[in-house]
Amino acid sequence: MSTAVLPHDEQLRARFSELKPALTAQAAVIEADRCLNCFDAPCTAACPTHIDVPGFIKRIASGNLRGSALRILDANILGASCARVCPVDVLCEGACVLTRQNRKPIQIGQLQRRAMDAFWASGEAVPVAAPGTHKLRVACIGGGPASLACAAELCRQGARATVIERRELPGGLNTYGVAEYKLRAADSVHEVEMIRRLGVEFRCGLEVDSAAALVALEAEFDFIFLGLGLGAMQRLNIPGEDAEGVMNALELIAAYKTGHLRELHGTVVVVGAGNTAIDAANAARRLGADTVYMLYRRSESDMSAFDFEYEHAKQEGVQFLWRRQPVAIGQGEHGRLILETVQAREADGKIEVIPDSQSAIACDLVVPAIGQSPLTQILQELRGVQARDGKIVADRVTGQTGNPRYYAGGDCVNGGREVVDAVAGGKRAARAMLKEAEVAHA
Ligand code: SF4
Repeated sequence: MSTAVLPHDEQLRARFSELKPALTAQAAVIEADRCLNCFDAPCTAACPTHIDVPGFIKRIASGNLRGSALRILDANILGASCARVCPVDVLCEGACVLTRQNRKPIQIGQLQRRAMDAFWASGEAVPVAAPGTHKLRVACIGGGPASLACAAELCRQGARATVIERRELPGGLNTYGVAEYKLRAADSVHEVEMIRRLGVEFRCGLEVDSAAALVALEAEFDFIFLGLGLGAMQRLNIPGEDAEGVMNALELIAAYKTGHLRELHGTVVVVGAGNTAIDAANAARRLGADTVYMLYRRSESDMSAFDFEYEHAKQEGVQFLWRRQPVAIGQGEHGRLILETVQAREADGKIEVIPDSQSAIACDLVVPAIGQSPLTQILQELRGVQARDGKIVADRVTGQTGNPRYYAGGDCVNGGREVVDAVAGGKRAARAMLKEAEVAHA
């Protein structure tokens, strides 16, 4: 699998050095020894993939890193990337009993990473129960975490799975959309390679965007799993938005992760206050922008980014402009942009503009980051698959849609949650398809 699009520039890599360095071997054992091995394990219950947290931690404490990694992979095939990108503060570590005792929670994410790094370093492949024993063939449309988890589970159980991805590399946002200091694109590709070794086939650079393409897949496969993710980034819908110097947050992140954007300068304004907006703002700082503003039309307490992400952005030197709304983007001198803004306030839960509150920011780059749009085009082509508010309607347990040959999971069903939620959805759908196929052939 090609990694030609990944940055090889040492300077760029140094700028995006990992936020949390890995634990040393000794530190990991000391940390693992602190775990109380709770019988009811609230940490496991808090994980959408229900990783046996005390089980894998116990194996680290006893020096059995291989056994620990296999325990993780049994529940979550993307255990390595989840160890890096999961918001552990609000999931497993947030649920750790030590937190309730006002003690530091076990560093579950870091320990998971320790086991997974050791497994990768060993070069060992993930075991497959009975390769090729199942006649079931499934196409997974979209190469992100939901499809990867679905395909991996199918192949581990002996069925055949093909992941169809429109971009050059699979991995979805893990490869192209997560801040490099959290998860390197190279690590995402490595994880995909591990899944390929399970027997998963990848067809990259192939877009499924028409009824004819779907009909062809229906003829070739028994079931189709929709791991489509979300649509394009939402537009600001203001004059001047298509000017050169306007680049949405996902474009910016993908550009530097693929080595196409190596440097920024001057002033960057990120519009939005979610986690992706923060990833883009931090990236702008690390790429050399002197001043980075985050502009949000509501207040600090309304921002959707996690608290730890907000704190991180402040540490990176990002400045926040609250209750400010962009209204137009114009051309300034020397190729710069002028972002026209107004002050906003809330009245009866609604945002209203304060009269005569216009002000302007001279800047070099405007980065819209107000979320991704719902899917539209492909949904119109899916016969019998219902959608509501741009999200595919699927059974909560099985992921089956209104068309019994189509299953779905991840962001296109839940509207955009964590990687670990997508993994859980993909795995559930794989198990449901396997069960359905067994019933049909019984
Ligand atoms: Fe260990 Fe904390 Fe989980 Fe208990 S809740 S098993 S202490 S990680």
